[in-house]
Amino acid sequence: MIHHARSILLATTAALLAPSMVHAARTDEAGVTEYQATVEQILATSLSEGQAYDLLSELCHVAPRRLSGSPGAAAATAWAKKTLRELGFENIRLEDVTVPHWVRGDVGEVRFAEPPELSGDHVPMLALGGSIGTPDEGLTAEVILADGLDAVAELGEQARGKIVLLNRPMDPSLVSTFDAYGGAVSQRSRGAIEAAKVGAVAALVRSMTPGHDDIPHTGAMHYAEGIPKIPFAAVSTNGADHIASLIESGKRVVLNLRQNCRTLPDTEGHNVIGELVGRESPEEILVVGGHLDAWDVGEGAHDDGGGCCQAIEAVRLIKSLGLRPRRTLRVVLFANEENGLGGGNAYLAAHRNEMGRHVLALESDSGCFTPRGFTTDANPEAFAILSSVSALLANAGAGLLEPGGGGADIGPMKAEGVVQLGYLPDSQRYFDLHHTHEDTLDKVSPREINLGAGVMAAMLYVIADLPTTLPRNDVK
Ligand SMILES: [Zn+2]
Repeated sequence: MIHHARSILLATTAALLAPSMVHAARTDEAGVTEYQATVEQILATSLSEGQAYDLLSELCHVAPRRLSGSPGAAAATAWAKKTLRELGFENIRLEDVTVPHWVRGDVGEVRFAEPPELSGDHVPMLALGGSIGTPDEGLTAEVILADGLDAVAELGEQARGKIVLLNRPMDPSLVSTFDAYGGAVSQRSRGAIEAAKVGAVAALVRSMTPGHDDIPHTGAMHYAEGIPKIPFAAVSTNGADHIASLIESGKRVVLNLRQNCRTLPDTEGHNVIGELVGRESPEEILVVGGHLDAWDVGEGAHDDGGGCCQAIEAVRLIKSLGLRPRRTLRVVLFANEENGLGGGNAYLAAHRNEMGRHVLALESDSGCFTPRGFTTDANPEAFAILSSVSALLANAGAGLLEPGGGGADIGPMKAEGVVQLGYLPDSQRYFDLHHTHEDTLDKVSPREINLGAGVMAAMLYVIADLPTTLPRNDVK
């Protein structure tokens, strides 16, 4: 089975590569296959003695709400630093990050005013992060539908004085829910801008999920210079469908939106860093991380507490087996991914002088479901090497290596030629709970998150320990 899966992977890879690279992969000049027994030991230990789930349980208990600027964010930072120390990491430090400070407030509701038979009924909603509030009595206006962001401009004068509901569903035909999210999320990020341009007084967006339920999904939204700021909130998919069906049947729908969220002055957050220093080439660095901040609903268990705990656990696992790779493994728990990317940008700014020695950056920020493999933007030579490691993970069901990015927090390093690697779990259930009250510890499987950490540990260890350094990408 292993041999068969590997041949397929190599055949796929071969189509993408120059002949010399194919030769390198086939003959395993990099020496990857020598790590097979170690990889198997790492994976087995991740399942029998893994601690990713236990770490996540602690984090969700200590700091269930940890949006940038909140007391929970500070508690999460303190927990992470203490945890890295207790686990014996080296060079532990906090690095300053300036972060936005948005607070949801204690009022958030959408209620029908018309049709009369529904007057007073609630539609499940959450204010979007960054949105302004409404007047105390709320905003009451007729609703007009838009099938996606581009459709808003086409509404023109019809939208003036109204509430625009951006209601384009995520494409259910796509296998990757991340692809479907990517195709729909501009409605959430830019909906208030486009709606304000055509004179709307507020905007609502269909929650970013392929599901049909009563759960609203929050997330980041933006305003633009020179465009009026209007309140913006997400409604559940069932709620959006209900509103749309009423309008499509010819009824006039009037809603009252009330929310008292607001933005406070910027404040201070931190990236949390700890290392396992390399035994031979300590100056060469492999980053592994996730983002420690999370939306202020649920516990941010899958997004991205679990990813942070997998990053910590991947390195802890390697240490626990008495392994110290040639190169340095650096855990970075980033601040402020959700509403600013302050942590990823601050990391690059603080470490620009050592970017040339960053071999690889790996992020887990796609949930902690069953591991399937990785995504990467690696150049063909590096891709062939990563692909050889993936082949060692095929028995664990994690042998995929697909073209793609690594993660938002490590994204700023892409322009510096740092190969991006993203942990790729099964994506089917992630958007059931992404950015919702439902993203809690009980939705995480201990075996899935621990095996995922093992898969990350195996990939990291081999790349950090190979005799030759993974080739960097060209700097754009
Ligand atoms: Zn995330």
